[in-house]
Amino acid sequence: MPPAPASASAPSHSLPSYLAADRLGPWGVYLQQIDRVTPYLGSLSRWVETLKRPKRSLIVDVPIEMDDGSIAHFEGYRVQHNLSRGPGKGGVRFHQDVTLSEVMALSAWMSIKNAAVDVPYGGAKGGIRVDPKKLSRGELERLTRRYTSEVGIIIGPTKDIPAPDVNTNGQIMAWMVDTYSMDVGYTATGVVTGKPVELGGSLGRMEATGRGVFTVGAEAARHTGLAIEGARVAVQGFGNVGGTAGRLFAEAGARVVAVQDHTGTVFSDRGLDVPALLAHVQETGGVAGFGGAEALQDSEFWGVDCDILIPAALEGQITRENAGRIRAKMVIEGANGPTTPEADDILSDKGVLVLPDVISNAGGVTVSYFEWVQNFSSFFWTEDEINDRLVRIMRNAFAGVWETAQEHKVSLRTAAFIVACTRILRARELRGLYP
Ligand code: GLU
Repeated sequence: MPPAPASASAPSHSLPSYLAADRLGPWGVYLQQIDRVTPYLGSLSRWVETLKRPKRSLIVDVPIEMDDGSIAHFEGYRVQHNLSRGPGKGGVRFHQDVTLSEVMALSAWMSIKNAAVDVPYGGAKGGIRVDPKKLSRGELERLTRRYTSEVGIIIGPTKDIPAPDVNTNGQIMAWMVDTYSMDVGYTATGVVTGKPVELGGSLGRMEATGRGVFTVGAEAARHTGLAIEGARVAVQGFGNVGGTAGRLFAEAGARVVAVQDHTGTVFSDRGLDVPALLAHVQETGGVAGFGGAEALQDSEFWGVDCDILIPAALEGQITRENAGRIRAKMVIEGANGPTTPEADDILSDKGVLVLPDVISNAGGVTVSYFEWVQNFSSFFWTEDEINDRLVRIMRNAFAGVWETAQEHKVSLRTAAFIVACTRILRARELRGLYP
């Protein structure tokens, strides 16, 4: 081996994130979930290996000129986990902790989610390892456009359709539409969903994920005899998903007693004033400093006395360390992958019902599907039509998963995986191997 170059004079390069020691991360969690479902797949288990490797993973370098004239490089990804049932579908996340392992897991959870609610998509996900809060608007636009152009070789209205996720929104989708459209030479609104309504977006899309969380929670509450009215609710993450879900629970008579986000944790035993908290977050960027509430230590959040806990931030939040402290009767996963398999077991032993992400937060992609259909037909539906169809799909999906859980005496997560993996692998088997 030649000696390593003197590090003092070498430019400081960090290892690509996919070579980091913890590279299995969320992908490792997903693989454990697949192992748990395999015994229930019958003869389809012959194909299960398909689910354990993404079909296609693209890593791109995203260089942009910063406002100060320097050139910065960011690592971007687009992973298409499975395309057996249709084009890839899943959001794009801008976050400083994004890794290939994370995007692989998120893309796989999209395959499961899309099959669980039976929308005709495979699963995909994208991301850029960046803290977008540190970028100016111009830098954010250049980053989005260069990323879109780099992944442009694999996305498209019939190939793979991105959407918003953590730290991305309608404006970012608008830049993606424009960049892709400029590259192909015509306006292709169907290349992404979650667009502003003025640019072919769908009514109801913004609040669809939170509405789905509420709908699935209300269905589960009905099945288990938990009254929403007066129920104590704790929410982690108060962005598009947690904020909407919290508001809908409060409107249904629940008491939102605790909310945590990246700025802090606020608590009120009587129930927080949710509209006022939403306005505070809009104004200041987070829940910290909200008047009329007590500030808690972040670690106290998990032990809060509540009936319903809604993790609606990032993955890996409910772990073997904190699961034992959770006092809720029901956990509704608004985030993707918030509960580790060990925590799943601890919660199940305690009799806590976990409504898994792949059903609970599928409202967003369901209305994305409506948006995409509306873009193809250039005919737009009313908000009532959208919400009615959304609620119908979510209730049906929940009922099917509930029944499967009863039949096999398994958790709702394993049941959702049974339903979804069966659909995906059945399509796989029908298509057969090529060549
Ligand atoms: N990012 C959302 C999710 O995790 C929505 C994806 C989409 O609409 O394609 O489900």
